[in-house]
Amino acid sequence: MKYIVLVGDGMADRPMKELGGKTCLQKARTPHMDRLASEGNPGKVRTIPKGFDPGSDVANLSILGYNPSKYYSGRAPVEAVYRGIKLRPEDVAFRCNLVTLAGGGRRADEIMKDYSAGHVSTKEAQLLIRDINKKLGDKNIVFYPGMSYRHLMVWRNGKEKIKCTPPHDITGKKIGAYLPTGEGADLLRILMEQSAEILLSNPVNKNRVKKGLFPANSLWFWGQGRKLSIPVFRDKYNLSGALISAVDLTKGLGICAGFDIINVKGATGYIDTNYIGKANAALKALNKYDLVYVHVEAPDEAGHNGDIKTKIKAIEDFDAKVVGTIMKGLAGFKDYRILLLPDHATPVRIRTHTDEPVPFVIYDSRVRHEKKGYTFNESLLRKKKIEVFDRGYKLMDYFIRKKP
Ligand SMILES: [Zn+2]
Repeated sequence: MKYIVLVGDGMADRPMKELGGKTCLQKARTPHMDRLASEGNPGKVRTIPKGFDPGSDVANLSILGYNPSKYYSGRAPVEAVYRGIKLRPEDVAFRCNLVTLAGGGRRADEIMKDYSAGHVSTKEAQLLIRDINKKLGDKNIVFYPGMSYRHLMVWRNGKEKIKCTPPHDITGKKIGAYLPTGEGADLLRILMEQSAEILLSNPVNKNRVKKGLFPANSLWFWGQGRKLSIPVFRDKYNLSGALISAVDLTKGLGICAGFDIINVKGATGYIDTNYIGKANAALKALNKYDLVYVHVEAPDEAGHNGDIKTKIKAIEDFDAKVVGTIMKGLAGFKDYRILLLPDHATPVRIRTHTDEPVPFVIYDSRVRHEKKGYTFNESLLRKKKIEVFDRGYKLMDYFIRKKP
């Protein structure tokens, strides 16, 4: 028996008048996901427990079968795992975004122009972060270059209980009310202020400004926590697993769960990602592993950018190039099960994540399902006879252990 988990990050959304009251999933052409919804077992799942910030870390931890209330310890420690950064128990890891602030003048009056510094390239960003580490790093504060705008800072013997805000939640807003607060916040504020001068004087940014691109002119800290420790997936389900994703977060979660990480060339975590490459890598991996987890980031990025057209395109590409390719390739396997779902909603209108339940479908190759004419979108949430998981981390149990 083979298991495939297909996660379209942030695919879920809310009805929009621009789409005639439809959502992006409803508007998008998705014949493959619709077939799974029609012939499979649809349901509703709350991947973000009440009271938790609706992040991909919490959502994918739930989908992997781990109770966030028991195990969740912040986003950055998970990304650190993937970057191979060894965290000691007393260390605190922080996500460190390169962002673009605008407005000048008093710091508090500056505006969060772009949480991704215009999706700065990894090459440019790593030059900037290395410069920052040289000038602001020391034996207690270390900066680790990552991908595009996503980097890490580890504070040895650091303070964890600082209130930080994800920058993608405050696009277009004055930053004053969202600067770090609480014990240890002063140090973060000083680092952010000192970073501005260093970043702006760096030739990388001078070049970006000349080309009319957003300068990466400030660091922004959030998503902090201490080392994550969870029981490995194999011990729970006696199944081997592999994970395919472009983003450090999900890859870090995969490593914590004891999965092998399969890196796919051209997987960018953005709308230009190598969808087909990811699907083919998944099919190949199914020859070796019992379960393969495929995560695609693109719809979420489009949601954060408030871009309806691009989100619909990302969903259609996910359907055709990932789901479609995998469904065709699975013909070569006898018994298999597919779990398809968004990890959470990233409504284009509000450009950030929300914690409302999302639709899922489980398709079992051994079960002959009558065609119900369903389509894969939020309308499934209102169907009568569907499975409902208020505790999202229970869904994996059901997916693995449910009798056909
Ligand atoms: Zn997500």
